[in-house]
Amino acid sequence: MFRKMAKDQTILFHSTIFGPIHSRRLGVSLGVNLSPYDGKVCSFDCLYCEAGFNAQGAGKSGLPAREDVARLLDEKLTEMRQNGDKLDVITFSGNGEPTLHPHFAEIIDDTIAIRDKHFPEAKVSVLSNSTQLHRPDVCEALRRVDNNILKLDSALEKSMRLIDRPVAKDFTVEKVVEQLKQFEGQAIIQTMFLRGEHSGEPVDNTVDAEVNALIEAYKAIRPREVMIYSLDRSTPEENLNKVPKEELLAIGEKVKAAGIAVQVN
Ligand code: SF4
Repeated sequence: MFRKMAKDQTILFHSTIFGPIHSRRLGVSLGVNLSPYDGKVCSFDCLYCEAGFNAQGAGKSGLPAREDVARLLDEKLTEMRQNGDKLDVITFSGNGEPTLHPHFAEIIDDTIAIRDKHFPEAKVSVLSNSTQLHRPDVCEALRRVDNNILKLDSALEKSMRLIDRPVAKDFTVEKVVEQLKQFEGQAIIQTMFLRGEHSGEPVDNTVDAEVNALIEAYKAIRPREVMIYSLDRSTPEENLNKVPKEELLAIGEKVKAAGIAVQVN
């Protein structure tokens, strides 16, 4: 068993390589966790984070070494190939933000080489919260992956701060939208829709003002695609509600009408 319930009913991945799991967004996915396996390290502290709040601490295991990630991935893909298993995608996610790893760029290069050796048809996906886009090494590595999936949960500053709770106080919507433009059609933007409240503050990024601001941001960024989704598992903030599929589809129609490719999950 590679996962166990942490406090608040959220889940930590207790290994560097996990799965494969069937992802509703990505297919048969082998996960790579570049965060500790007994704690969480993230530059956001999202209300909906499946790994729990940052307050749980970073644990004691530390970030995995580049060499260990490569060795473990090579071993796992060798085993899967020998078993005749299917693999659609290798996905960087896990207990925090993968681009915070100091060797993220080198690990991406290792991963592409190991993928090419075992499952050349599989994709490499990175799920990132977009906070490290000021670093050229991170941006160049993200350009090299098949699916560069970058988070934008709200284009309104107050809501982004309420939902994502960035650790760096100088992180702003304005800056990140500007940084997201640099991918020129290669990035996939991922937006989590939710509603509820946190510490007495209402949260709802499905209202017209939110959706309209997001559409303006998507138009400026010109992504390859927008992925919209809602809650799937327990969240550390208990007062959050999943947005029904029909409402997500209606938001998706508005995004499509603005000329942007959209996937509703
Ligand atoms: S960016 Fe991802 S890992 Fe970080 S707090 Fe948000 S959901 Fe959790």
